[in-house]
Amino acid sequence: MRLSRYFLPVLKETPAEAQIVSHRLMLRAGMIKQASAGIYSWLPLGYRVLRRIEQIVHEEQQRAGHVPMLMPTLQSAELWQESGRYDAYGPEMLRIKDRHERDLLYGPTNEELITDIFRSYVGSYKQLPLTLYHIQWKFRDEIRPRFGVMRGREFLMKDGYNFDLTREDALHAYNRHLVSYLRTYERMGLQAIPMRAESGPIGGDDTHEFLVLAETGESEVFYDSEITELKFGDREIDYDSVEQCQSVLEEFTSRYARTDDTHEEAVFEERVPEERRRRARGIEVGQIFYFGTKYSEPMGATVQGPDGKPVPVHMGSHGIGVSRLLGAIIEASHDDNGIIWPEGVTPFHCGIVNLKQGDAEADGACEKLEAALMAKGLEPLYDDRDERAGAKFATMDLIGLPWRITVGPRGLKNGVVELTSRRTGESEELTPEAAVERVA
Ligand code: ATP
Ligand code: MG
Ligand code: MG
Ligand code: MG
Repeated sequence: MRLSRYFLPVLKETPAEAQIVSHRLMLRAGMIKQASAGIYSWLPLGYRVLRRIEQIVHEEQQRAGHVPMLMPTLQSAELWQESGRYDAYGPEMLRIKDRHERDLLYGPTNEELITDIFRSYVGSYKQLPLTLYHIQWKFRDEIRPRFGVMRGREFLMKDGYNFDLTREDALHAYNRHLVSYLRTYERMGLQAIPMRAESGPIGGDDTHEFLVLAETGESEVFYDSEITELKFGDREIDYDSVEQCQSVLEEFTSRYARTDDTHEEAVFEERVPEERRRRARGIEVGQIFYFGTKYSEPMGATVQGPDGKPVPVHMGSHGIGVSRLLGAIIEASHDDNGIIWPEGVTPFHCGIVNLKQGDAEADGACEKLEAALMAKGLEPLYDDRDERAGAKFATMDLIGLPWRITVGPRGLKNGVVELTSRRTGESEELTPEAAVERVA
């Protein structure tokens, strides 16, 4: 991509309305524009990161055997009356009437809709286990939308739903989700800690939230510091193996880690030695629930069991805050000059800065570099604008690409370009070919 032809409306001034660093940086880097309170347009740079995060979520869900689909944003009120949540959900639900005076709502979550799909087509236990998921916009009329995409009213969520014959099978699905979430967040360069939580309006008795530690987080958290040393890493896991998933769950949830809703000071003090007790703040980037037959019973989602008798299916639901993740990643990874994207989610793999635009040799070298990077399947952003070097560097630092290759006539005389790591700030001189190898 050539910057001269791209749309990157970078702001010089720090927007006064933004209270936290991720919101400020997303506005300054031209990633989002507020359309109305808690509702955002995703400008090209922000959209690229959103798509990369979605892609990781898709890959990890499918690796765990979950099946992608897409449900609509607008739902009929009838299904919610059946489950009993239409009245219970309260003012966070955006209710709409169509021209025929029929009640609709903009889905805040999808348990009812998916349960209706399930009961329409699945009649036998032989079709289980089944986990369906989608990535779709949600609307919750939050009382205080704030912090940019962190607490929007319209936001993108991955929500998945498991259907199982027994409680044991559904708990395996729960564990499978926990494992897949650990992998998902790590691929985004994040440490998200599963913490015992409260179920809220989704309901149910087993639930964990995933929290990214950050001072600006809205949740208060209490945990054993040992937990921050755990890494999922690149271990191979068989998602069908009950034992393997169970053992990962035990490893990651046996130490004390709770949000303020479930925190018990006495238990904390008893179980965690004082020097390991941490009280901090966190951003909720996902949550998994097991809720048994809470929806399948009232909505009649039953299957014929092995003995021929109908049984309501055991279910759970599992959410990842896809759009919130952009804010969480930036909160966890930035410096005074801007964003520092983890490689897994960066909007472009590498920036190319031409120090002397219009100089035939420099222009030619940049174009060759661009082509060589693309031939490796990478997406470079070439700053080909006629701008001062300082302004080009500031833009690259702000938008946070992991690598910058700087090309100028002086280096080219010696056959080298400069490769700079955004994270460490360290530069080295290399031949263009060696620089491409390093970035790839
Ligand atoms: P919160 O406690 O922050 O209000 P929640 O517990 O109500 O979130 P869930 O129903 O668990 O949210 O939804 C799954 C995920 O969707 C959350 O873990 C979070 O990452 C994301 N999410 C929820 N509400 C919002 C929002 N208003 N804006 C952006 N992301 C959100
Ligand atoms: Mg909420
Ligand atoms: Mg919550
Ligand atoms: Mg939640």
